Amino acid sequence: MGCGAQIQTEDKDKPGYVQAATLKKYLESDDENAELFCKRCFRLRNYNEITDVDVDDDDFLKLLDSISEKDALVVNVVDIFDYEGSVIPGLQRFVGDKKILVVGNKVDLLPGSVNTNRLLNWLQQKSKENGIKSVDQIMVSAVKGTNIDELMDMIEKYRDGKDVYVVGTTNTGKSTLINRIISANSDVKDLITTSRFPGTTLDRIDIPLDDGHYLVDTPGIIHRYQLAHFLNAKDLKTVTPKKPLRPATFQLRDGQTIFVAGLARFDFLDYKTNVTFYVNQNLPLHRTKTVNADEFFNKHRTDILMPPTDVKDFPEFKSQIFSAKEKSDIVINGLGWLTIPAGAKVKAYAPDGVHVSIRTAII
Ligand code: GDP
Repeated sequence: MGCGAQIQTEDKDKPGYVQAATLKKYLESDDENAELFCKRCFRLRNYNEITDVDVDDDDFLKLLDSISEKDALVVNVVDIFDYEGSVIPGLQRFVGDKKILVVGNKVDLLPGSVNTNRLLNWLQQKSKENGIKSVDQIMVSAVKGTNIDELMDMIEKYRDGKDVYVVGTTNTGKSTLINRIISANSDVKDLITTSRFPGTTLDRIDIPLDDGHYLVDTPGIIHRYQLAHFLNAKDLKTVTPKKPLRPATFQLRDGQTIFVAGLARFDFLDYKTNVTFYVNQNLPLHRTKTVNADEFFNKHRTDILMPPTDVKDFPEFKSQIFSAKEKSDIVINGLGWLTIPAGAKVKAYAPDGVHVSIRTAII
C-alpha cells in the first residue's frame, strides 16, 4: 500500500518500515479491508508529515538515473551550514539536461550580518564547481518559513507545467521543506501516496500539484563522511545549531592550539592573527599551547572536551595542513567552520572519516 516499498520491521530509517507489533496485528486481522502502511506513509496520511528514509548509493544513483528519463524540473536541496557535506557532485550528469533549481536551506543559521546576495553568488559558483548548471538559486529556511512563497513562485516559473523532483542528501531539511510546501498548498485529504519507480524498490511520494502534475519527494542519500554518523543522538543535538551562529573570535599568539570540544583540533602554525569559529555556541572551545596539546587532549577527553561522550567508539583524529591564499574557511562537515585570514597556515584535525576542506570565506 501507499508508496510501494517492501514492508520490513528491521530498520526504521529504511523504506517500508513498520513496527513488528503493527505487522503482527495486520497479519492476524480478520478484517478484509485492513490496510498496512509503512511508517512514512502512515505519518503522511495521518499527520500530513514526511519522514525521510535512507537509501544506499546504488539505489540513489538508480533513482537519479530514472529521473533522467523524465521531463521534469529537479529541485536540489542543500544545507547552507553543511554545504560540502550536502552537495551531490555530478548530480547534473545523472539527471541529464534537466533544469536544476538549487535551494540553500537553513539560512536562519547564518549570522544576521551576512550579505544574502553574496551568498547567492557563492552558491551559484559552488554549483558550477560541482558540475551543476543551476537555472537559479534561492536561500530559504524551512523551519522559519523564510522565502517559501518565493521558492514556490520559482518552482512554478521553471517547471514549465512539468513534474518536480526534490532531491537532496539526508539532513538537509528536505522533509521539513516539503512539509512546509504541503501545508501551504494542499488539503490533507488530497494527499495520496502513489507508486514507486518501476523496477526499483525505492519509494517516492507524489504530491499532486493543481495541474495534474506532481511534486515528487525522493529518499535522501546518505553522505557517509558527515560528522553526524559518528555521534550519538544526544551529542548530535549539542553539535547541530538551532540558532544563528554566533562567531567566536580568538586573538592568537605563536604556537597555540584550539580544540572544538573533543571533535576537532586546530594548530596555528607560524602566524599571529585573529581567527573566528562558526560552530554551535554550546560547544566548548579550549585554547592551549601546541606543545601541551596532546597531553591536554588525553587528560580532558572525558570531561571538558566532551562531546563526544562515547570516546571508545569515536574515530582517531587525522590531520591535514591548510594554507590560506585569501581569507578562507576550513570546513569540517557537519561541525561548522573556522575562518582564517590570508597567509595563515593551520593544521586541522578531525575524526578519521569526516571530510575537511578549505573554501573562500563565505562571511
Ligand atoms: P531531511 O533528512 O533532509 O529530510 O531533513 P529533515 O527535514 O529531517 O531535517 C534535518 C534536520 O535539520 C532537523 O533537525 C531539522 O529540524 C533541521 N532543519 C530543517 N530545516 C531547517 C531550517 O530551515 N533551519 C534549521 N536551523 N534547521 C532545519
